[in-house]
Amino acid sequence: MTATLHTAPVVVTNAPTTGSDDAGVIRDGAVLIDNGVIADVGPAADLAAKHPAAKRRDHAGVLTPGLVNAHSHLQYAAYADLASSGLPFSPWIAQMVERRMVTTDEQWAESARTGAFLALRSGTTAVADIVTDIPALAPIARSGLRGISYVEALGADDDQWNADRAGDVNKALDVAMAQTRAAGISPHSLYTLSRHAFTESMRRGRELGLRAHTHLAESADEVEFVAVGTGLLADMANNIGWKMDAISCGGFAHTPTIELDGLEGLGADVHVAHGVHCDSADRALLRERGTAVAICVRSNKILGAGRPPIADYLAEGSPMGIGTDSLASSPSLDLLEEARAARDLARSQGYDLPDLNARIWQAITLGGAFCLGLDGRELSGGRADQVGVLAVGALGDLAVFDVPTDGDPFAALIDHGAGECVATVLGGTFVHRRGGQ
Ligand SMILES: [Zn+2]
Repeated sequence: MTATLHTAPVVVTNAPTTGSDDAGVIRDGAVLIDNGVIADVGPAADLAAKHPAAKRRDHAGVLTPGLVNAHSHLQYAAYADLASSGLPFSPWIAQMVERRMVTTDEQWAESARTGAFLALRSGTTAVADIVTDIPALAPIARSGLRGISYVEALGADDDQWNADRAGDVNKALDVAMAQTRAAGISPHSLYTLSRHAFTESMRRGRELGLRAHTHLAESADEVEFVAVGTGLLADMANNIGWKMDAISCGGFAHTPTIELDGLEGLGADVHVAHGVHCDSADRALLRERGTAVAICVRSNKILGAGRPPIADYLAEGSPMGIGTDSLASSPSLDLLEEARAARDLARSQGYDLPDLNARIWQAITLGGAFCLGLDGRELSGGRADQVGVLAVGALGDLAVFDVPTDGDPFAALIDHGAGECVATVLGGTFVHRRGGQ
């Protein structure tokens, strides 16, 4: 395969290199991709002289690493009507449980395919994707998207877990691990799994050397459920017939984050979604455990779950990614649209440092890579894939956005990048092209 030299008026590398500024921005820059991997990065004129045989692609706009979505459920692309239903969190999740029962295998596969297509079309090349139904696995793997398919353990008390849910999850893990895309484990939440079911699913994932991802402190209902064992989520569990420890004990008198830690659900091999209701002690505990949080501002707003303390996460230096969540609770899978909402929320919460746009940009690239363990650290099996950065040795995944090339590229991407992805390249191959690109 011939090496390809991608050039653009502005290249955002996320890693300072020859010809870049401190933030890794190169004016008239270029990236050489050879055999699916980045082989060189620097000023376009230098790289053209060094690699005269490379095929050349000259892009207009801003060229960046492919974006990393730190929390989604691509298989729910067909549930978009639920996002516009106006239902708040607890009735929404009850509606999800009901709707899931009548969705067929073919519908899951088709919906997952749609989700992967929408992600790639908006410049996202890696996703922390939660998979609840086996038919959704193959279409995502076939799409070539990087990241992890986290097999979800959802809805089980001790009896149900021991009877058949443990076996179901093991079976799904076997299927996920046999595919090309990396597998992970996702115990859904503290209110849909008993303590035993939660810890057993975590244990199984770790036994297999997999990363884990769970929902944490998403709604005030969850806080109430964990602390005192009452509220709408307790009602839901009772209606479904789950025998939950939190309800029988009258709650555990602590926060969801402390509960998760007690279940050995935190660690550097875990990242959590939402973290809306995390106080400063919770956030400090997450940092201490090396657990990153994936913020999903638009989903939280649609479900009335609250506003994540994003300005605090930023100011305190918490490892952070950004996720769109699924189309069942979000208007789009466009990560730059999500980033703009996160930036605006941080600003409204008082974060007024000039690095705000750059920090939010990092969250949808480097931060997401950290969430997924794809920041170059060695993973089980000896692989050490790197995404979210244009650096020699990283995977050859990039995106090009038709946004203004003068001024601050981070502000341009976040203010104008939504819906403006004109090209997406995955492992050196175009998977999306718009207009004359
Ligand atoms: Zn979710």
